[in-house]
Amino acid sequence: MSPTAHVVGAGIAGLSAAIRLAEAGHKVALYEAAPAAGGRCRSYYDQALDLVIDNGNHLLLSGNTAALDYLGRIGSLASLHGPDTTVFDFADLASGERWRLRPNAGRIPWWLLASTRRVPRTAPWQYLSALRLLRAPPTATVPEIISCAGALYERLWRPILLAGLNTEPREASATLAAAILRETLAAGGGACRPLVALQGLSKTYVEPALEFLSARNVAIRFGMRLYRIAFEKDRAVELEFGSEREKLASDDVLIIAVPPWVAKDLLPGLEAPDAFRAIMNAHFRMKPPRGHPVITATLGGLTEWLFAYPEHLSVTISSADALLGRPREKLAAEIWGEVAALTDLSAKLPPWQIVKERRATFAATPAQDAKRPPVGTRWRNVMLAGDWTQTGLPATIEGAVRSGYGAASLILGTPCDMPQLRKIPSGAK
Ligand SMILES: Cc1cc2nc3c(=O)[nH]c(=O)nc-3n(C[C@H](O)[C@H](O)[C@H](O)COP(=O)(O)OP(=O)(O)OC[C@H]3O[C@@H](n4cnc5c(N)ncnc54)[C@H](O)[C@@H]3O)c2cc1C
Repeated sequence: MSPTAHVVGAGIAGLSAAIRLAEAGHKVALYEAAPAAGGRCRSYYDQALDLVIDNGNHLLLSGNTAALDYLGRIGSLASLHGPDTTVFDFADLASGERWRLRPNAGRIPWWLLASTRRVPRTAPWQYLSALRLLRAPPTATVPEIISCAGALYERLWRPILLAGLNTEPREASATLAAAILRETLAAGGGACRPLVALQGLSKTYVEPALEFLSARNVAIRFGMRLYRIAFEKDRAVELEFGSEREKLASDDVLIIAVPPWVAKDLLPGLEAPDAFRAIMNAHFRMKPPRGHPVITATLGGLTEWLFAYPEHLSVTISSADALLGRPREKLAAEIWGEVAALTDLSAKLPPWQIVKERRATFAATPAQDAKRPPVGTRWRNVMLAGDWTQTGLPATIEGAVRSGYGAASLILGTPCDMPQLRKIPSGAK
């Protein structure tokens, strides 16, 4: 019998590993605790809105090469939407100012010379100081490397880094901030085109992956929560899902693609991030005005990013832990007031929903980054995948895909076919 790769967790990392293994002809068994796949990147039917919405708005950039590769393989690249060239609309609720950030496509940033393309009241040379992040040591925080004050910080670096790191940049890892910079603005505007799954996350990232797997005879088993792994010497030998048990054959492998707190319970002695940051999304059932940009970066209020979907408007607030205790009704009213001001829509509150993801991502601090484990573990047939493993990136779809691909290529014994993946340490003995 051919060996089986048992993949536990059908979030983006587990799905990425499963599709790479299945397309290489490897036998795959995929287990998911929840009744649906997608993990932190999924859609669901919301009764209050009578709409299918996403657990949270997810932004991809054209430089997220592994994520785009994943979407290409499962055939859903065309379901991403965004402007034809790199444009970010900004609005400042406090001052009423609006501007558009328009980096040119190439690596040489001549856009900085055009005042209509850069942040108002900033000078071209000020942008260059961010390059210092690229040489920051792993223990450094952002303010130890660049100034966290002034118009450029408040109007560009803070919104970008806060969104990418889901951690207040003043406490965040300079190395992880550098990873964002390196793969976005420093790579040229061509790597920064914003892309949004307007028909929903599940239709773009999850359902096509399940179809891809089913066409290769990989069935996903829902409601399969892994409670315990039995080990013998340096191998995992049995999986315990409640009353069901699954024995692993001698050459079977196991990919643990669950969140870090679950992985720590399953794998004794595993070091993994243990501090997290929340993300809050406010969804409103209201069609956006015609021609409204798909995303708007917003300053001077609670709203940080406004997403315009065909049937609803939706706001993302990162590192939102301080808001978790605030009454939902008050939050909805305050945020809608901001959205109405941004869109010129009526101030009357439409049907709404507030979704709070308490442990949305690990806290992107130097201390937490240092706790991220490599793909390989001390058990020779057990690998890890997840946005919290050592991907070199903050917790993102791109990181989740890279981790899944990394685990799959370790199992297949094939060299990673994407240059970024070669930088992921395998930890394999
Ligand atoms: C609100 C929000 C907004 C975000 N915005 C963005 C964004 O704009 N851009 C971006 O790139 N990223 C964004 N992210 C991050 C992105 O969603 C994650 O990085 C990515 O989805 C992580 O995938 P994963 O597979 O590593 O983990 P998960 O999605 O957590 O998957 C783990 C899976 O394991 C399952 N599981 C757990 N325990 C068990 C068990 N014992 N047995 C079996 N299965 C189990 C879970 O149900 C889940 O399906 C956002 C995240 C959130 C929450």
